[in-house]
Amino acid sequence: MPSTVRTLKLPSGEAVPLLGQGTWKMGEDRRRRADEVSALKLGLDLGITLIDTAEMYASGGAEEVVAEAIAGRRDETFLVSKVLPSNASRAGVERACEASLKRLSTDRIDLYLLHWPGSVPLSETVEAFESLKAQGKIRYWGVSNFDTDEMEDLVGLPSGGNVQTNQVLYNLSRRGPEFDLAPWCAERGIPLMAYSPVEQGALARNARLEAVAARHNATAAQIALAWAMAQPGVIAIPKAVRQEHVRQNAAALDIKLAPEDFSDLDRAFPPPTRKRGLEMI
Ligand code: NAP
Repeated sequence: MPSTVRTLKLPSGEAVPLLGQGTWKMGEDRRRRADEVSALKLGLDLGITLIDTAEMYASGGAEEVVAEAIAGRRDETFLVSKVLPSNASRAGVERACEASLKRLSTDRIDLYLLHWPGSVPLSETVEAFESLKAQGKIRYWGVSNFDTDEMEDLVGLPSGGNVQTNQVLYNLSRRGPEFDLAPWCAERGIPLMAYSPVEQGALARNARLEAVAARHNATAAQIALAWAMAQPGVIAIPKAVRQEHVRQNAAALDIKLAPEDFSDLDRAFPPPTRKRGLEMI
């Protein structure tokens, strides 16, 4: 267990863990299922109780892996899932949510996200989210892959201000959101949920990160996570199937980067100096 379970507050006031577990690519192969379930269970044991999934991952297969991992432990889990933009109509969201609840073997999703902006008017999706909330099928809703102008449009809609997070690609090698999106969200107390925080494994092999890691008796991936979690209002959701990775990710919560580390990381991965469109994986 990390010595402290670090949390931040959603706009609703509810505290959620700063570190979560991703599930993209889980549920794709039956032969890997037992390892995937064990990894998520180990993460829960270590206090990484926020789990991020989506109807898209393995066409629902990842949600089934999550169901198996959280069986008997639903109340200790903060469950995040996502609806595809192609299902974002009023009726589509209702149907998609029902299907996700069934695969997740639960009666509620804690945080339900629109996976990325699509062609259904956002006002319709927000209405559907609010209706699911009223029915108790979701507790909160949010968005993913929304750039600043899209967030502006969203909060201008009736009930649009109820958004609880924006999940975006954010890590040391993808610092674009720091230019305007992250400050915009921070001003409004909306957390950014950083996906691919180790750049799908690439940052775990980065020599500049290894140099900083050596000072902490840590790994490069742990430094990438410690850096992401040190950014104000940021939640990181690495995906890990190897048990050793899950343990290392939990231990990253205890790493305190020094000013010298931050300046070395800024030199290796410079912050943005102009607006760039939000990147997506
Ligand atoms: P990621 O978390 O940056 O990287 C996952 C890869 O890094 C895996 O290969 C994993 O290996 C490896 N890894 C994890 N911890 C490690 C460690 N301590 N040391 C070395 N390697 C480590 O990439 P991601 O899966 O793309 O992103 C995380 C989650 O964000 C996803 O799973 C998904 O839930 C979410 N996501 C959301 C969106 C969106 O559009 N909203 C897009 C992409 C991702 P093993 O698995 O072998 O342990």
